[in-house]
Amino acid sequence: MSAACESIRSFSPERLEELMRELGQPKFRAKQVHEWLHLHNASSYDEMTNLPKALREQLSQRFPLQETKILQVRESQDSTKKYLLQLDDGLVVECVGILDGSGNKAQGSQHSFGETEDDQAVEAEDKGGRLTVCCSTQVGCAMKCSFCATGQQGLERNLTADEIVAQVVAVGKDFGMRVGNVVVMGQGEPFQNYDATIDAMRRMNSDAGLDIGARHITVSTSGLCEEIKRFAKEPEQFRLAISLHAAEQSTRNALMPRLSGQNLKKLRTALAYYVEEKGRRITLEYMLLNEHNDTDDDLQHLIAFCEGLNVHVNLLPFNAVDGIDYMPSDHRTVNKWRVALDNAGIPCSVRKSKGSDIAGACGQLKASRFE
Ligand code: SAH
Ligand code: SF4
Repeated sequence: MSAACESIRSFSPERLEELMRELGQPKFRAKQVHEWLHLHNASSYDEMTNLPKALREQLSQRFPLQETKILQVRESQDSTKKYLLQLDDGLVVECVGILDGSGNKAQGSQHSFGETEDDQAVEAEDKGGRLTVCCSTQVGCAMKCSFCATGQQGLERNLTADEIVAQVVAVGKDFGMRVGNVVVMGQGEPFQNYDATIDAMRRMNSDAGLDIGARHITVSTSGLCEEIKRFAKEPEQFRLAISLHAAEQSTRNALMPRLSGQNLKKLRTALAYYVEEKGRRITLEYMLLNEHNDTDDDLQHLIAFCEGLNVHVNLLPFNAVDGIDYMPSDHRTVNKWRVALDNAGIPCSVRKSKGSDIAGACGQLKASRFE
């Protein structure tokens, strides 16, 4: 489902110039409008104070602005903030702002998403911390993964590209900071809303938009093979993360029932194709769930899955979700996996959950009001 009327936010700079010409305005007005829409996330033409009033009125009649309102914000002790945003049709969606200071790093673990050596170089340059936004692509999700709060909710609708970009802008505005990284890892399965997601990622990347480097924009999918191959053909150097969580078929089927049609063999083929096409490393997300996917056998399956594939494994902790009774694996197990992956020559990191005191971790987002 998409927005009912054409959105001026989706106009390219060229299209805006055309519109200004049509309205008898000088060319520079297009740049002004673009900045208001994308840099300042204006929610009304009245805010565009450097435009003539008559132009503002014409625009508001032809292209009414949809508004993404921040309904509530919750801040965690580690400065992570979770936002509840209200869309134009009243539905709500969540996104998260994560502040990573250079002094925050715990030994042997990473706080960021899909982080690899290039990120670390960027971080080393980064003196004042950086802002990562985790954004959603759907209201709810149809995939019904057994460990995921969003999955329990079912799918309500796809977000438009506007609504995806607006989350990033809103969080940047609230922090008063430039957004350095985006992880498309909030609510929803991005590759079930492929066109809007890629359109949004392009607008985040564009120097006429948010100007965030493609290598700083990561999309996470539960593993839709056709779309992974399609993504391999996109020209930008966006990053890809896969929520693997099990490398043995029956275990994965139990955790991610809607993915059983996309079996692991097919998934591995799609990933090998991606690595070949892009020459880029993929991040495999593996959440360790006590006695569900953390046995020695599971570990051997993971090592076998990774063999010959250019991957980085991110071991992540399970964040408790009401009504779901999985437990995270204990520290000894996590450590054992890390050492075993290291010994097998597979790059690996252990992600420390941020914002867990506000249920702010990605994948734990639920479109219900905060208590
Ligand atoms: N649908 C996409 C992106 C959103 S989910 C995907 O599945 O990849 C973002 C990440 O959070 C995924 O790796 C997901 O598996 C993980 N996740 C879901 N529920 C979680 C939970 N309760 N604790 C920790 N991570 C979770
Ligand atoms: Fe959807 Fe991802 Fe949650 Fe699975 S983990 S239900 S794909 S949001």
